[in-house]
Amino acid sequence: MMRRALLRPVVGRVRVKYRDQARLFGVLGDPVDHSLSPAMQNAAFAAAGLPHVYLRYRVPQAALARALSEAKALRMGGLNLTVPLKEAVLPLLDAVTPAAGRIGAVNTILFAPDGRMRGDNTDGEGFLRALAGRVRVRGTHAVVIGAGGAARAVGTALVDAGCRAITIANRTIARAERLAERLGRLGAATVTVVPLEALAAGDPLVDAGLVVNTTPLARLRIRWTASPARCTFMDLVYARAGTPFLAGAARARRPTLDGSAMLLHQGALAFEAWTGHRAPRAAMARALRAAGLSSLQLREVVSSLQVREAVSLTEPNTAASLRVRRPPKEA
Ligand code: NAP
Repeated sequence: MMRRALLRPVVGRVRVKYRDQARLFGVLGDPVDHSLSPAMQNAAFAAAGLPHVYLRYRVPQAALARALSEAKALRMGGLNLTVPLKEAVLPLLDAVTPAAGRIGAVNTILFAPDGRMRGDNTDGEGFLRALAGRVRVRGTHAVVIGAGGAARAVGTALVDAGCRAITIANRTIARAERLAERLGRLGAATVTVVPLEALAAGDPLVDAGLVVNTTPLARLRIRWTASPARCTFMDLVYARAGTPFLAGAARARRPTLDGSAMLLHQGALAFEAWTGHRAPRAAMARALRAAGLSSLQLREVVSSLQVREAVSLTEPNTAASLRVRRPPKEA
């Protein structure tokens, strides 16, 4: 008789466990082609010995209800949502987690065995983990550009982390006002709404400690030098070549941070919610590098990891090795 061990499929160097039935996972959005989540999540499944597969699906808002009912019929294991679905999905769900309820947007869907869909949100926590050791949020004035699903998560996380004041700059003022009202109800001390054009004059930046771009806009007119010299500019977008937003801040010699560390942390938290396994963050970071992150972006990702995991990401015998130091503690 053939020995059982010979039948076990092997993914990378990890043996897939028989008791885990293969499931399909994916990210829905429009546009979605740029997403690095499949590379990251497939690497995480392989490293954890899980036989699952993660794909991206272009789903415009009008097709969301049908896509979710098909996902349910296929008994998919879980979903992520991106632009422009994070708020639109709310009425289609059976329940939301406390985090998603507080934020008012969903980036992760969990399927119960009976097919019921629960919306979760890992963007807020992922955002704070990306900032850890880089920016002291407590007591600062933060400027949030945009008022969509990602801005809801960022704004809520800033309130929960003790931000002193928040300014929301958005094209659609009514949407920014809805977010401001929501953050006020959550306990924000001061929330101000301004049009995008106010950034060109620079007034909202004068005492800012953090400016977060949550829009996909390539060009924003900003008077960078109106901000204090230590003000950090963060773009939720991640692109190998950098973004015009971060390039403008860097020209003004302001500290910058792109969305790659947040991508990793929100994805790791979603992985843990779906599987109950601890996310293999180092394997996920390696997959992001292979999928196209620059070494500078990878350095940011690594510095946001716990030092134990970060060390296992290094490859001491290759030219690509990274020297990792524990991120500085918050001042
Ligand atoms: P969303 O809900 O569709 O919101 C988009 C925001 O961008 C809104 O404030 C919208 O303003 C603004 N906007 C879009 N096009 C504009 C234009 N042409 N001119 C002026 N403003 C415009 O999207 P989202 O889910 O918040 O995602 C926003 C971005 O964050 C995406 O690029 C997404 O990939 C990124 N993101 C990254 C991560 C990460 O882990 N790194 C996580 C979450 C999101 P109006 O209100 O006026 O329409």
